[in-house]
Amino acid sequence: MTGSPNDARTGTGNAAVAQRLDSDPAEADAVPRPPAADDRTGSADDRTGTGGEGIGAGGSAPVGPARRNWAGNVRYAARRYHRPATVDELRRLVAGAERVRAVGTGHSFNRLGDTTGDLVSLAGLPATFQLDRDRCTVTVPAATRYGDLAARLHAQGYALANLASLPHISVAGAVATGTHGSGETIGSLASAVAGLELVTADGDLLTVDRASDGDPFAGMVVSLGALGVVTRVTLDVVPAFDIRQHVRLDLSRADLDAAFASAYSVSVFTDWRAPRLREVWVKQRAEAAPLPADWLGTTAADAPRHPVLGMPPQNCTPQLGVPGPWHERLPHFRLGFTPSSGEELQSEYHVPRAVAAEALAALDAVADLIAPVLKVCELRAVAADRLWLSPHYDRDSLAIHFTWVADAAAVLPVVAAVEERLAPFAPRPHWSKVFGLAPSAVAASHPRYADFLGLLRRLDSAGKFRTDLLDRYFPR
Ligand SMILES: Cc1cc2nc3c(=O)[nH]c(=O)nc-3n(C[C@H](O)[C@H](O)[C@H](O)COP(=O)(O)OP(=O)(O)OC[C@H]3O[C@@H](n4cnc5c(N)ncnc54)[C@H](O)[C@@H]3O)c2cc1C
Repeated sequence: MTGSPNDARTGTGNAAVAQRLDSDPAEADAVPRPPAADDRTGSADDRTGTGGEGIGAGGSAPVGPARRNWAGNVRYAARRYHRPATVDELRRLVAGAERVRAVGTGHSFNRLGDTTGDLVSLAGLPATFQLDRDRCTVTVPAATRYGDLAARLHAQGYALANLASLPHISVAGAVATGTHGSGETIGSLASAVAGLELVTADGDLLTVDRASDGDPFAGMVVSLGALGVVTRVTLDVVPAFDIRQHVRLDLSRADLDAAFASAYSVSVFTDWRAPRLREVWVKQRAEAAPLPADWLGTTAADAPRHPVLGMPPQNCTPQLGVPGPWHERLPHFRLGFTPSSGEELQSEYHVPRAVAAEALAALDAVADLIAPVLKVCELRAVAADRLWLSPHYDRDSLAIHFTWVADAAAVLPVVAAVEERLAPFAPRPHWSKVFGLAPSAVAASHPRYADFLGLLRRLDSAGKFRTDLLDRYFPR
């Protein structure tokens, strides 16, 4: 480790009061139409995807009302927006700031990434790409979008083991929140992190890596953006591979485990209107034996699908079993297209795989509440990791994801009902989505909560990277 987070472990300090973590319903109701589709592909120069000030690298500007997250439900409360052109500029900015947060591509659904001080995008830092063939790693700037990294890696004969459903998100933003794809033998995107470089609260540059820094390193990867501004990320790479993607229809819930076990990456979609599961997106390694025609009693879709009924399938990666490169099959959505209309909210909970059937059965009791405000529910398998705040820490997980309609007033009571039903299964929330679990429950479901709190208090003793949301869940 260069720099010094040492190994501080302090007490827990659970918050006594349960409060909601999601965006303010009143504000969400007042949200105007989302920004233009082009901005929301994430391809705009302004990688917050929110449009607005349009400053270039090395610039700063007041934050106007246009600066929102991708879904448009969070209006950033920051006073100023910065886009430094160099790491030294960033270090000066952080050192001099009272409150500061980094923003990636703004695809989160809650106020985790907001601040009342300075919001900083790293998209103006120099683009670099360091492939280390001996160590099987690649080191990239924090703001790199997975889709851009993947294309470049593939051209060199390499791949990442997994990707999220959309390739538009930044590496640092995804890693900071424990973002994942699916695959029962594959960890989250954060689990591929081998090293980090970050600017800490006093403006120092700290480098940490998995090989040298061991357990404390595992505390710094899923950081919630609370330990510093990450400038570079080193990721494990594997040899490039091809995938065939098939969509199968009408899976029995009793066959969910068998479905997850049958391919490299499997996503299951349901609408909570019927006992059976509507669609299974099976992403097989190209060399694997094709699925039998009667695979698990399902039928094959005869045309491409979008996970949300009625949305255009051309926004999605190729299906129908056509083999293609890993980065054009593992995400559900294509880089050059907007994944969906953006008029949505998302929530996600992770429970141990071992209790998946019981957890889903518990939700049956609130299916009639879920269905009317649901666009789609996705079930995924994620392998356990050792990252302290990861939703998958030390347990193979079932990820239960909800894409809700963009109506916070209607959705929030249903989110509360879902959380109540899942409570016996120690659900861990997706840090970047809408949730309202009690702070005490969040602390209890993360075995390394106290260790992370200690790291947080020591690395940011003045609370420079703190937000209201962090204060609620990680009291000072
Ligand atoms: C359509 C859609 C599909 C999605 N699909 C998936 C999915 O398949 N799987 C999944 O797990 N999630 C999914 N998500 C959620 C998404 O992966 C997370 O919200 C992720 O954090 C987004 O990355 P971002 O770059 O937009 O981060 P932001 O939303 O910009 O930031 C997220 C957090 O990271 C912090 N951060 C960003 N950059 C830095 C930095 N350089 N240093 C320190 N902290 C930083 C921010 O402060 C903030 O707290 C999806 C979201 C959308 C909108």
